Amino acid sequence: MSRRRQIYEGKAKILYEGPEPGTLIQYFKDDATAFNAQKKGTIAGKGVLNNRISEHIFTLLAGIGIPTHFIRRLNMREQLIRQVEIVPIEVVVRNVAAGTLSKRLGIEEGTQLPRTIIEYYYKDDALGDPLIADEHIACFGWATQEEMNDIADMAVRVNDFMCGLFAAIGIRLVDFKLEFGRIWENEYSRVILADEISPDGCRLWDMTTNEKLDKDRFRRDLGGEAEAYQEVARRLGLLPEGEANSVLDLEKHRQKRGK
Ligand code: C5P
Repeated sequence: MSRRRQIYEGKAKILYEGPEPGTLIQYFKDDATAFNAQKKGTIAGKGVLNNRISEHIFTLLAGIGIPTHFIRRLNMREQLIRQVEIVPIEVVVRNVAAGTLSKRLGIEEGTQLPRTIIEYYYKDDALGDPLIADEHIACFGWATQEEMNDIADMAVRVNDFMCGLFAAIGIRLVDFKLEFGRIWENEYSRVILADEISPDGCRLWDMTTNEKLDKDRFRRDLGGEAEAYQEVARRLGLLPEGEANSVLDLEKHRQKRGK
């Protein structure tokens, strides 16, 4: 049996050649990194959960007319996706101050923003993904103005939809990151939603306790990251209910750590 061809290995995913031209297989790893890969670790079972969570959200987004690269889930850790030319911009949508916004501007974490902020970061690990303005995108030709209009429109729609989706299960969508890719049809191209949407790239806070249910547990050494990811999947209805799967016991976890 010949080994399939690896196209790219990122921090949390591997891309393999797909079964047909124009397709790829996206494999979700358990590896976790933070602070531009200065901190490395693994979260047991994360890849399986992110595969399911991302499948779920991308499928719902397709249902409201957002074009995405997702075709179908293949197994526990893999999904079939459309091959795209990734736009080298990370799109961050913020509803509540946290993370680098709080740090950069001195705004207390948890402050509800009076309006949603969309930020752009240049996707370049060596530069540490710097914050950029529309002018940089236009000047260096990273995307056209038309593409940026489509990207901003989609980011707003994804945010509105996801705020509602998570509010319905008692979770505040604080912020999240999106990536987009170009697909070509003859000489025309359009941008579609790519990458993944999972607790790796979202800040998700329990609405009543403010407990963090996302990668900040790993970034900030809070522990209980696998339990938090499972809790998100469970609330989204992606894990069977029942004693064996009642996973969120962060209180017990904290006690165990003596905090
Ligand atoms: O770190 P910062 O506050 O800028 O992150 C904003 C949001 O974007 C967070 O939800 C974070 O998980 C996500 N993000 C990401 N990948 C990056 C940078 C940020 O998923 N490289």
